[in-house]
Amino acid sequence: MRNIVLFGPPGAGKGTQSEFLVNHYGLVHLSTGDVFRFNIKNGTQLGKLAQSYMDQGKLVPDEVTISMLKAEVEKSPEAKGFIFDGFPRTTAQAEALDAFLSERDDSIEAMVALEVPEDELKSRLLARAETSGRADDADPDVIQNRINVYNAETAPVADFYRVAGKFKAVNGLGTIEEITERLVEAIDA
Ligand code: ADP
Repeated sequence: MRNIVLFGPPGAGKGTQSEFLVNHYGLVHLSTGDVFRFNIKNGTQLGKLAQSYMDQGKLVPDEVTISMLKAEVEKSPEAKGFIFDGFPRTTAQAEALDAFLSERDDSIEAMVALEVPEDELKSRLLARAETSGRADDADPDVIQNRINVYNAETAPVADFYRVAGKFKAVNGLGTIEEITERLVEAIDA
């Protein structure tokens, strides 16, 4: 299988780029944020729990997120591979993903990380709030909290893949097409 982790801070463009990568490589897109939002919309127990964290810009607890992720992977037995978007976001999640995939004789091929300066992230998220309807995009304090959580808990996940020789950084500034090209180049290298 071809499993790619698309990494980067909130507002880096992971969702936008996932669409192109999924078509290009014929993979299944798995965004933990999208799954949580689907559950919130449908009023499930998981949605109710996730919402309290998401509204504050905090991470949903690892235990909950990891078991949801496993269930989502198991829903696509025919997949040629996955684009993981927004997961893993903690080192514990990265370790759990590794263990889960190795049980299936599988692994992560690469982590591609979109690099975008903090000021640009903030303006992208505020602009997205106009159309996304996402409460966590509309409030500057929540945005700041998401960026702080990223720096403290998520950025270290890059090291997990760096020591495994699987980490590739990509400049996340430019047109959507330019960034797609850079990602494809990094993945195919
Ligand atoms: P963004 O990357 O713009 O922050 P996401 O849709 O990926 O947007 O995530 C939105 C929110 O969903 C996060 O702020 C967090 O509360 C929750 N979330 C998503 N993925 C995870 C994860 N892997 N672990 C914990 N919480 C998560």
